Amino acid sequence: QITIDKIAAGEVIERPASIVKELAENAIDAGAGAIVIEIKEGGISFIRITDNGCGIAKEDVSNAFLRHSTSKIRSVDDLMDIHTLGFRGEALSSIAAVSRVELITKTRENDFGITYRIEGGKEISIEETGAPDGTTFLVRQLFYNTPARRKFLKTPMTEASHVADLVTRLALSHPEISFQFINNGQSKIHTSGNGNLKDVIYHIYGRDIASHLLEVKAENEHLKLTGYIGEPIVSRGNRNFENYYINGRYVKSQMISKAIEDAYKDFTMQHKYPFTVLHLEVKGDLLDVNVHPTKMEVRFGNQQEVYNFLCEAIGRSLHHEEL
Ligand code: ADP
Ligand code: MG
Repeated sequence: QITIDKIAAGEVIERPASIVKELAENAIDAGAGAIVIEIKEGGISFIRITDNGCGIAKEDVSNAFLRHSTSKIRSVDDLMDIHTLGFRGEALSSIAAVSRVELITKTRENDFGITYRIEGGKEISIEETGAPDGTTFLVRQLFYNTPARRKFLKTPMTEASHVADLVTRLALSHPEISFQFINNGQSKIHTSGNGNLKDVIYHIYGRDIASHLLEVKAENEHLKLTGYIGEPIVSRGNRNFENYYINGRYVKSQMISKAIEDAYKDFTMQHKYPFTVLHLEVKGDLLDVNVHPTKMEVRFGNQQEVYNFLCEAIGRSLHHEEL
């Protein structure tokens, strides 16, 4: 079991940011209204994630670390249709296989919390403790037992910047959740969780960008688009500031990027990469989604229809007001 988990972990857990992604998504699925993410040394030596979500019941704690154990109903086919981010039940087992984990968790129904420790896939201890409602994961010494993998880690600074990028994407995808990111004791990101996307953009990208945004809003039977578009941030340009989410997931898609750029080009006569934060909701099974869980790439069954919808919606907001 432990060996299998180590191999499986290779696919999911590449670096500290992958752990933060999995644990933060679990916190979101647990209904958390606030999530605090703290790292030291780029997350290589220390990651702590605290949420105020539903917690894990005592009898479920050690099961949660078994492979393919998930409390979430799912089918890989309608991955994008389900309402939880997690679905494979692999994250906790994969993380525990390659690090030292301490979990403190408490459900509202229980008077006591649980402290559970697991290292390299081996249970160390489980005991009752006093704890607030919610869950804290402490993950230490990533890849301590797989030196070959540790070699692929970059400098703490680079790893920290991957985590910061990830927290940025999470905060933009969930304005209704307060995210705090603390790097080596310094608070770097702290969103309010008031549900206002523009406030999150302001907090992360600053006033210059937030005060020059156009709202995007469109809906038909199958698709709903909301969010903002603004001028490109860097004149030379790349797609780094094209943020978009499908049903709450951060994704990459040639087609969506092209729709954004084509709509912008149609309006400005320039091929550039505008700043965007767009949320696309896809209803029903219009889309034949083909996606690898960790790669964030997504393809649509009906590309043209989605492309047309996006171009039109973005074009309409660009033409409405001056940038
Ligand atoms: P998945 O998210 O695919 O279900 P994971 O391995 O990430 O699988 O998590 C296993 C299970 O542990 C989840 O299904 C959930 O029941 C529980 N869990 C993990 N993290 C949390 C959390 N922060 N709060 C509440 N429950 C959690
Ligand atoms: Mg999960």
